[in-house]
Amino acid sequence: MSLRNEIWEIEEALGALQDKLRELRIKVDSLEVQNARLLERLSDENIRSEGVEELTKLYDEGYHICSTYFAQSRNGEECLFCQSFLKGNM
Ligand SMILES: [Zn+2]
Repeated sequence: MSLRNEIWEIEEALGALQDKLRELRIKVDSLEVQNARLLERLSDENIRSEGVEELTKLYDEGYHICSTYFAQSRNGEECLFCQSFLKGNM
């Protein structure tokens, strides 16, 4: 194989590698975007489940957590509004 042919082949291989590299960069970019979105969603869900936990505690301590009677004492009675709110958020 002539030197010239060898150089040409190496150039071809380099071009193919650059194409591959570009492809991988695009993939990495989209994975990073996806990853950021997933992390965001995860922290939203954590905050949300912590909030529900707090409300459940409040209800167990004898207070309303429903929008109708929020923070008022339940006077030892169960409240269907509160319970359905909790059920909807579990
Ligand atoms: Zn209630």
